[in-house]
Amino acid sequence: MSDPDPQLTASSTEQLQALIRNACVNDGTPSSGEEIRNAHLVDDVLHDLPREHYEPVPGRRSVLATLEGSDPDAPTVLFCGHTDVVPVNAGEWREDPFGGELLDGEVWGRGAVDMLCLTSGMLTAMRQLADRREPPRATIKFLAVADEEAGGTWGARWITDHAWDDVACDYVITESGGIPLHTPAGSHLLISTAEKGIAWRRLTIHGTPSHGSMPFGADNAIITAAEVVRRLHAYEPAAQLSDHWRAWVGALPVDDTQRARLLDPVYVSEAVAELPPRLAAYCQALSHVTFSPNVVHGGNKTNIVPDTVELDLDIRVLPGVSGDDVEAMLVDALGDLADRVEFSQTIEPRPATASPTDTPMFDLLRRRAEAVHPGAAVLPWMVVGGTDAAFFRRRGVPSYGAGMFSPDISLEDFQSRFHGHDERIDTTSIGLTAQLYLDIADAIAE
Ligand SMILES: [Zn+2]
Repeated sequence: MSDPDPQLTASSTEQLQALIRNACVNDGTPSSGEEIRNAHLVDDVLHDLPREHYEPVPGRRSVLATLEGSDPDAPTVLFCGHTDVVPVNAGEWREDPFGGELLDGEVWGRGAVDMLCLTSGMLTAMRQLADRREPPRATIKFLAVADEEAGGTWGARWITDHAWDDVACDYVITESGGIPLHTPAGSHLLISTAEKGIAWRRLTIHGTPSHGSMPFGADNAIITAAEVVRRLHAYEPAAQLSDHWRAWVGALPVDDTQRARLLDPVYVSEAVAELPPRLAAYCQALSHVTFSPNVVHGGNKTNIVPDTVELDLDIRVLPGVSGDDVEAMLVDALGDLADRVEFSQTIEPRPATASPTDTPMFDLLRRRAEAVHPGAAVLPWMVVGGTDAAFFRRRGVPSYGAGMFSPDISLEDFQSRFHGHDERIDTTSIGLTAQLYLDIADAIAE
């Protein structure tokens, strides 16, 4: 691997540090995030490019900068980089999570991996392109977007619903990709091409109010809810072995017998459970619809037997699974308790999405990956969480999660730092990622 251009690396590192220090922490409440601070930074860096601003809620500002290409027939690429980060538990960190310190070749801070190192690469690539005498042939847009970490309500969802013409494009490049995976089965580079959908439900469980001093035989909604939770936890929906699953299993460090079991619908659940815990959790999510009971509200006074409990489930669906399918699974899981439970949606559903891999952009990503990581095969990857790619894919725009991490970063590092303590990224990865975006801008119209 050749080292990235030192100047490009230095610029992107500096931008990353500034993005981290702005601490745009999104805790899910509409008044958090304050991405306006990072929006100001983007405005300063790209002051001479035409820009649009979107601020559906005060402080939740996103910026779109456009560099018009010289060839009207060339494709338009949108780099979509979120500017918010998730909260931290600062006491558990070795360094200040919002210090953005550069220590031993690594930038420390919340967002270093998710995804400010990509956003800084996009910003730096835009600046470099704008400084050239000639624009690229392709039109390049950069959306520095708010609120990704809480589902895009005030960011990508809002912008794609209300200002589609501004962000319309032929390809989107965003987060979750460019991660090396080295196993005895070979070297791979993960580029995300798909993600699971979101089908959250609130379960309302009814009982009958009565006096807490006489609990015998009472119809207590909390006791029913406990059984509902137990059944959900024990429920095993059928595995769904997609092409993404097959490709992923092909890259796993397992022996042939284990591999065969992972590819067999009869044995897959059992085989997944035997994997190391973190890998098992990802593999289970990649091959199943998942149900996680994560919020519970119920009861209001110690001496009253409660008549209502509300239980919020985080449900993630695979491609092809509809809302009706989800409710059928819930009924199946709850058995004879199903008619004591009401189901309602807590957010607009988001079906699973996927982009084709037979596009000039995916070919380009493959070529770049192979140039930086010789011998590594690109693995189209399914994200089991949610990213802003979903809002563009549902409009038919091929969208890929791609950065370019150095061989020193393992998938394990990536996953443990993603929303974890001591999040940090090496400067080689920062430079390689900025270089990837420059290369995309230059090569997509060739
Ligand atoms: Zn992210």
